[in-house]
Amino acid sequence: MAPPDIRSLRRDELAAELQAWGEPTYRVDQVLDWLYRRRVTAWEAMTNLPRTVRDRLGRQFALQPLALVHKQGARDATQKFLWRLADGALIESVLIPANPTLFGDSSDRHTLCVSTQVGCAYGCRFCASGLAGWKRDLGVAEIVEQVLAVERWASNASVVRGDSSVAEPRTTDTGPRTIDNLVIMGMGEPLANYDSLLQALRILNAPWGGGIGARKITVSTSGLAPQIRRLAGEPLQVRLAVSLHGATDAVRARLMPVNRKYPLAELTAACEAYQRQKGRMITLEYILIAGINDGLEQVRPLGQLARRLHAKVNLIPYNTVEGLAWERPAEATQAAFLAALERLNVTATLRREKGHDIDAACGQLRLRTEREGLAGR
Ligand code: SAH
Ligand code: SF4
Repeated sequence: MAPPDIRSLRRDELAAELQAWGEPTYRVDQVLDWLYRRRVTAWEAMTNLPRTVRDRLGRQFALQPLALVHKQGARDATQKFLWRLADGALIESVLIPANPTLFGDSSDRHTLCVSTQVGCAYGCRFCASGLAGWKRDLGVAEIVEQVLAVERWASNASVVRGDSSVAEPRTTDTGPRTIDNLVIMGMGEPLANYDSLLQALRILNAPWGGGIGARKITVSTSGLAPQIRRLAGEPLQVRLAVSLHGATDAVRARLMPVNRKYPLAELTAACEAYQRQKGRMITLEYILIAGINDGLEQVRPLGQLARRLHAKVNLIPYNTVEGLAWERPAEATQAAFLAALERLNVTATLRREKGHDIDAACGQLRLRTEREGLAGR
């Protein structure tokens, strides 16, 4: 069996391992510093460790960086990374500046959207990630490494400048952090890979690890009711976004097969339990798709749901996917939907889709790359 990647261990687990080797207690902080502050990708780079320790770490653990297949930059400086994993599978991460910047300008606040699975088993009708089905779950380190790898590339200033050239990453890097928000909205259903997701989030949240505040981490789910309840019981205070996309079972089931397993009544009850336990606001994601769910008759049930859950609604104009017939509604329709929702005193926003010109919606870059055979090994 392949050795586990060292970035799948929490501090206490690594400390126990190093203690068993008879190493002094300061050793664990030295290793963590190399992994998460300097973000090295090779044992040899850990120059303050004795060679015997580096060799032993190398025998016991993997330290596998993500391989960049290509990177695309959009006009608003959104950066999309397509990675190849050790087994050849492709995943993507998207770096989104907090403020839209003109091409060439840099922005110092960024959100990173990370993937949790290769493909997705949930087969939402509108989604590129679901088209080719589920291949496998990502391991803990494959989730964590998306953040580290993007930080490595971002510190290589060309990335934030929107320069699409692919330069070699530096092997050590202590530059300032680029990513301050994390959204688990890339490819895959995060709550279907629950244990690895949670371990990765603990590592990314820890002060010795990624150092990203829990309130700055949002997990998006298509509505796995039992796992939402389980998440409610976790000490980690992450934010929850639920992909609703339909406010009645009839409309939602047409778009999302998962609604047959967990219909709205069950999903809503789980969200209520989450909200009660955590006392924080849930976000309901609602993609607007022309002629499917953008009718004003959806507004009343959506408003009722949002008020019951103390949730805010995030309206997202649909991003067209090649090979799928769905389209985004006209801007006037989007605005009318928002206005009707606001008349019901629901907090709602209409998102201006960033990165539309680079297939920024989940799974689209991978899909296109595979179709065009761009990912030749
Ligand atoms: N599986 C999880 C997280 C990944 S999808 C989920 O479904 O929530 C992240 C978000 O992107 C979801 O809200 C999803 O519905 C949305 N999405 C998928 N395809 C899209 C598209 N073509 N245009 C706009 N949003 C899309
Ligand atoms: Fe999977 Fe989410 Fe896409 Fe649905 S929207 S197929 S759950 S990634």
